[in-house]
Amino acid sequence: YLQSQAARESNARSYPRRIPIAILEAEGIYVKDMDGKVYYDCLAGAGTLALGHNHPVVIDAIKTMLDSKRPLHTLDLTTPLKEQFVDELFSSLPEAFAKDARIQFCGPTGGDAIEAAIKLVKTATGHRSILSFQGGYHGSTHGTMSLSGTLGQKERVHGLIPDVHFLPYPYAYRCPFGVGGEQTHRISSRYIENLLNDPESGVVSPCGMIFEAVQGEGGSIPAPVEWIREMRRITQEKNIPLIIDEVQTGLGRTGKMFAFEHAGILPDVLVLSKAIGGSLPLSVVIYHKKLDAWKPGAHIGTFRGNQMAMAAGLATLKYIKENDIATKAEQLGNRLRDRLNELKSKVEFIGDVRGRGLMIGVEIVNANEEPDKLGHFPAYPKLASRIQQECLHRGLILEIGGRHSAVMRFLPPLIVTEQQIDEIARIFSEACHASCA
Ligand code: PMP
Repeated sequence: YLQSQAARESNARSYPRRIPIAILEAEGIYVKDMDGKVYYDCLAGAGTLALGHNHPVVIDAIKTMLDSKRPLHTLDLTTPLKEQFVDELFSSLPEAFAKDARIQFCGPTGGDAIEAAIKLVKTATGHRSILSFQGGYHGSTHGTMSLSGTLGQKERVHGLIPDVHFLPYPYAYRCPFGVGGEQTHRISSRYIENLLNDPESGVVSPCGMIFEAVQGEGGSIPAPVEWIREMRRITQEKNIPLIIDEVQTGLGRTGKMFAFEHAGILPDVLVLSKAIGGSLPLSVVIYHKKLDAWKPGAHIGTFRGNQMAMAAGLATLKYIKENDIATKAEQLGNRLRDRLNELKSKVEFIGDVRGRGLMIGVEIVNANEEPDKLGHFPAYPKLASRIQQECLHRGLILEIGGRHSAVMRFLPPLIVTEQQIDEIARIFSEACHASCA
């Protein structure tokens, strides 16, 4: 299978290159390949599988749909299920946000919901430029790629949205200002405020600001809560709609239902996908009604609001709430970070361990090269790649992210147990040592 698919798929094929296994079955945090080998899946559909593979409540919801006469696809026509899904989703949001919120079902991917969010704020403000952040990732379509601060995909695609201003994300370890620590987010906020106050800067009237509260693909980088509050204050003062991309962070992953809740702020626009479809494709944009300048049909698409995905998503949302999965994700995330920090103290090629909840990154560095001004060694993508393969060999699926492809990303399903966390950390440690042997 591996060979025949590699021969027929496009050169853009990505995950199977680094994770060359053929998956036959999956349950919870485990996947089994065609040779019967079992792996811990810490990629979990790039953070989609909040409840892991084939969780009984998700399977039940899907079976119930199949056994009923309910439609599997209805465009965005009215169904009782849609009503239930929106009720459940709105009751998961902070009350102050939900009470004035509008929802738009989008195409099945996160990228489509980001496209919708951009169109929404452009329509509402009449402005065209947008503020985005270095290292951010928002999707792979023309529009979303334009907003993403990751060069790789953009390199040979011309004609992206020109009016994107990239701002410095508070990534303290590789501080854009060469200072690090708390100064990173303080300077970032001041820089951004100054830019917006300067009529000569050309960024005085953007249609919106977009960021991830924890950068995912950019290398699991949590923005300090003080910085998030500052971004909220600045955008509020300047009347700039704030879009928070929670495609990856939403639904408990970071230890709260939504990552913006750590900062106690409310966005103007919230984008959700991945986990809200309970492993099936679904995405939505939820926003303050004051932004609703859209005409009917302003964002359409055939596969919006898929009924099956709503059924699976509804079951997932309920389970997460009823079992306080977000709090568990926080505790388990702390446990995993503790284990990884123990390892960091013993080896010199782990430069940084960071994250929030069960969204954790380990930055692999080259201790044989010159450190930067902060004493941090350069990223070491080759070693990260070796560690990834050693992990795979030992039954652990991990993806690599970050701007220099040197961050090992841990995104296990949120139903992972303490024992499994310890086992994942143990395998990772073994793989690290083997990679350097
Ligand atoms: N935003 C974020 C934060 C993401 O992590 C992703 C996907 N990794 C996207 C947007 C795009 O979602 P999709 O791949 O479903 O288009």
